Amino acid sequence: MKFLRNLPKEKIFGKTCLLRVDLNIAEKEAKNSPRILGILPTIKFLIKNGAKVILLGHRGRPNGFDKKQSLKPFVKILSNLLNKKIYFIDFDKNLNFTNGKDKDRKKNVATASSSIFLLENLRFLRGELKNDLKLAKQLSSFGDFYVNDAFSGSHRANVSVSAITKFLPSYAGFLMEKEIKNLSIIMKNPKKPLTIILGGAKISSKLGLINNFMSKADYFLIGGGIANTFFAAQNLPIGDSINEKSMEKEAGKLFKNNLPIGQAGLSAGRAGNIILPIDVVISKRKILDIGQNTINLYSQIIKKSKTIIWNGPMGYFEDKKFAKGSQGIARAILKSRAFAVVGGGETASLFKLQTADYKLRTNIFISTGGGAMLEYLAGKKLPGIEVLK
Ligand code: ADP
Ligand code: MG
Repeated sequence: MKFLRNLPKEKIFGKTCLLRVDLNIAEKEAKNSPRILGILPTIKFLIKNGAKVILLGHRGRPNGFDKKQSLKPFVKILSNLLNKKIYFIDFDKNLNFTNGKDKDRKKNVATASSSIFLLENLRFLRGELKNDLKLAKQLSSFGDFYVNDAFSGSHRANVSVSAITKFLPSYAGFLMEKEIKNLSIIMKNPKKPLTIILGGAKISSKLGLINNFMSKADYFLIGGGIANTFFAAQNLPIGDSINEKSMEKEAGKLFKNNLPIGQAGLSAGRAGNIILPIDVVISKRKILDIGQNTINLYSQIIKKSKTIIWNGPMGYFEDKKFAKGSQGIARAILKSRAFAVVGGGETASLFKLQTADYKLRTNIFISTGGGAMLEYLAGKKLPGIEVLK
């Protein structure tokens, strides 16, 4: 892997860096978002070493040009955080710069030094999602080298994470480097016992991870909507709870294959290393959180673990009444000395809210990746990472 850290300073000074970042974040959460805070060291490093920086990013899934999905609001957010002016670059469908009185932006990009530019949402261009080579070449002409600091967007083969690397020397930024270093500890030789805590809405997005760690993990602690799918797979009543019906068969198989020989069904809520909630919080015919006994059980297991992965809240935590399970897990992880990786958009923000002193804890890594982290831990090759090797 080629790291920005190892790039000689003379290859940075006076050059223009195209820096891919993840700005696919709700505006109101942006200034505290780990995705935004995480890219600041890379930007500062480039500027300090005399590079111009053009930030590349996307937002949402726009169908062509859509002002509502503009990246413009991030100019203010980022310039406040960096205490530095940021120039916005608008473009038309042919990637010609079009900012009204700033039509000379292209020239500015070429002349200003140590300046920061933010390019409009690249998904406004059709080629971006198609990993189009022509667009990649055109985009690459704005810079001298490319840095990817958007781990959380690197599971998609888009121009700004993949094809662009065909035309420019390409490196992993500091945030990308941190993600890969921490996640590869989990992939290579995690200290045992290894406990994987899974919750959230859908089991389908986490199946790859479950399969990849089935023989390696000592415990899977299940909560959230995923637990409902495991319950339903065993014909246990779940009322109107969220559930991924199409995944019941798969969940049933996972569970059954794991049952000790001779055991027919749910016994103390576990089959081999898969552990289900032993009590739940119900409201209006819906299972909305794990119960206190489950919190205690899971906390005990967390306490004796040496490595922990947590992805997906244990319940409908957006309503405080059903946040106890997720809070309990966060607390147990904080108390433990295990190496813990916490990831997933909701999970990470929930964890931070719960635990103000997480920053002091070097054994806890909060990943900025949701889907990307899950794919990485599923053992898949991420298109945006492969091209940096
Ligand atoms: P992450 O973003 O951390 O990866 P997911 O996107 O998989 O997590 O799922 C988060 C969502 O799952 C949250 O909005 C949460 O409210 C919801 N959720 C978890 N458990 C339940 C439940 N029992 N009932 C309803 N929603 C739930
Ligand atoms: Mg989510």
